[in-house]
Amino acid sequence: MSFIQLRNVSYKYPIGKGDVLKDVNVEIEKGGFYALIGANGSGKTTFCNVLRGFVPHFYKGDLRGEVLIDGKDIREWDMGELAQKIGFVFQNPFTQISGVKETVFDEIAFGLENLGVEVDVIIQKVEDVIDILGIGYLRDKNPQELSGGQKQRVALASIIVMEPEILVIDEPTSQLDPRGTEDIFKIIELMKLKGKTIILAEHKIELIAEKAEMILVFKDGEVVMQGTTKEILTDKRVQEYGAALPQYALLGLEMEKRNWDVDRIPLTEQEAISTVKGLLAAKGGQVCHS
Ligand code: ADP
Repeated sequence: MSFIQLRNVSYKYPIGKGDVLKDVNVEIEKGGFYALIGANGSGKTTFCNVLRGFVPHFYKGDLRGEVLIDGKDIREWDMGELAQKIGFVFQNPFTQISGVKETVFDEIAFGLENLGVEVDVIIQKVEDVIDILGIGYLRDKNPQELSGGQKQRVALASIIVMEPEILVIDEPTSQLDPRGTEDIFKIIELMKLKGKTIILAEHKIELIAEKAEMILVFKDGEVVMQGTTKEILTDKRVQEYGAALPQYALLGLEMEKRNWDVDRIPLTEQEAISTVKGLLAAKGGQVCHS
């Protein structure tokens, strides 16, 4: 059985018109890296809220179908236990900072403190996470006084320190520049190497093309496509569904439209180079003068 299963899941918020999720059927395997893509308002955040039990436990509303996390229905999970299994990093880091701690170190320690973990163990774990995230320079700062990007890193640290099996991350790089974004993706990859299951809603499609293994495409509350990154991000229907494709895939699709004999639609820079080389070689042309 898959680690996470949604069967015929539909959901309607208590306030609002119709279903915001519509007959969603998804299976998520342990240790996989899944990206959620789709236009704003297509249901990605709501899907994340279902996984962490906010739907139905907190938002109430009308949830139909089955949501199984590690074989147990979401309605039967104790919220405290679920919170330890699934770490959730919010879209808005400003809402994730507790507001009751005066240093970044204490902020990261907060969740473990609440669990009653021994002080020595807490200190060690917080040190380790600060190290992994490279945020030693923030250790003694007041969390309230950080920039958006710094808050985003601290929010991620305060979740990672809890060692959840599943990380649900909703647009973690919205406050970050390209360098900061790369850093966050490196941390996510590290978590994947540690065997965590990663579920990431993110708009930066080039990075998703490089890093994610599986993609779910959302449109108006439906999961309209799902499959490997390669399958999904080389399919022009993705654009029709209101999500973006990577620039190299667009290039390949454009070539295909012009009846150029491309062997495959490229996803990454390397693949694009080899596609172009293949085309030139087929034409008997010189590939490169240097
Ligand atoms: P995404 O994350 O893809 O932008 P959301 O899951 O946030 O999509 O939103 C999907 C739909 O649900 C939108 O139409 C949005 O207006 C609606 N919605 C989101 N949160 C709530 C809420 N708390 N109450 C009522 N409707 C909501």
